[in-house]
Amino acid sequence: MARGGHQRAIQDGGFRRIAVLRLSSLGDVILTQPVLQALAAAFPEAHLTYWVKEEFADLVRHDPAVAHVRVLEREARRLEDLLSMSAELEDADLIVDLHGNLRTRILTMGHRARVLRSPSFRLRRAAQIYLRWARPPRPPTVLARHAAALAPLAIACAEVPRVHAGPEAETWAAAWLAAWGEGAPPVAMIPGAAHATKRWPEAHWLALHERLRARGERLLYFGLEADRARLPDLAARVAADPASRWCAERLARVAALLSHCRCAVAGDTGLMHLAAARGLKVVAMFGSTAPELGFAPAGFGHAVLCRHEPCQPCTLHGRERCPQGHFRCMVGLTPQAVADAAASLGREA
Ligand code: SF4
Repeated sequence: MARGGHQRAIQDGGFRRIAVLRLSSLGDVILTQPVLQALAAAFPEAHLTYWVKEEFADLVRHDPAVAHVRVLEREARRLEDLLSMSAELEDADLIVDLHGNLRTRILTMGHRARVLRSPSFRLRRAAQIYLRWARPPRPPTVLARHAAALAPLAIACAEVPRVHAGPEAETWAAAWLAAWGEGAPPVAMIPGAAHATKRWPEAHWLALHERLRARGERLLYFGLEADRARLPDLAARVAADPASRWCAERLARVAALLSHCRCAVAGDTGLMHLAAARGLKVVAMFGSTAPELGFAPAGFGHAVLCRHEPCQPCTLHGRERCPQGHFRCMVGLTPQAVADAAASLGREA
């Protein structure tokens, strides 16, 4: 839509068909939720479609702001596929691209709709890694970058995302917990991460398990089967402990179960953001990344643990091994410090 058309849309009461694009990943999709909320409040009559990869669709499927989820099939990568899907955006009068990669650029190309994008601040984020000694200005948080996309419409966004699990998952979670038996809300333990340098050592998780169990805590571990396979000793300890469970369910069910926990312990991962978006206070452990990159859990009252080693952060997203070899950023976060931080956290009021 040309700028004049956009002005008419506003005068007529707002946009009618809005498309929001954020194809991945877990944490990034969660952090777009305040934008959805803000758009729904500003344009209550609009039909909002969210474009996302299949594996993350659960995160927005039950959001009251979303009328339709356009799921991208895993194999939809070829240019002709993207151009064919792009035709579905012809009816949109507002497109909000919160991804800004090549695929979303192709999908949003050449439409009459107004297109808003979130700024990436790539250079400022890179400066945090490669020019640490110069103390470069911090990049805005991911939430602030997404909110900036709506600035041209003078629409403000809430600071804390909320993920809706949906009725099936909520019912399932209540039944699952009832089957476990009576007890205090468990601590959510999230030991997995896609990159090795974001993972706390398995020996530390085992030590934390014993410390929290000694304090009488029940422990509910979340993670994919791959996480469990990567942590065989921890998985065996959990299996042998009647006060511990491991949940490897789909995202909606994980979201629903998280809300029954007292607090969460996690690395810098998507599930950390999911825990915060379900109302939990989080002990967030930063390894090769750092909260200064804009990745701290949203909201207040979390315990963010980062040693700020001279070499930290050494990467934006994570590595397969510590380039220094000592891995002090994670090894130096002691189980005692993490247990004390978890003891200090409770549920959000
Ligand atoms: S110890 Fe330093 S170099 Fe090694 S992974 Fe952590 S931040 Fe990177």
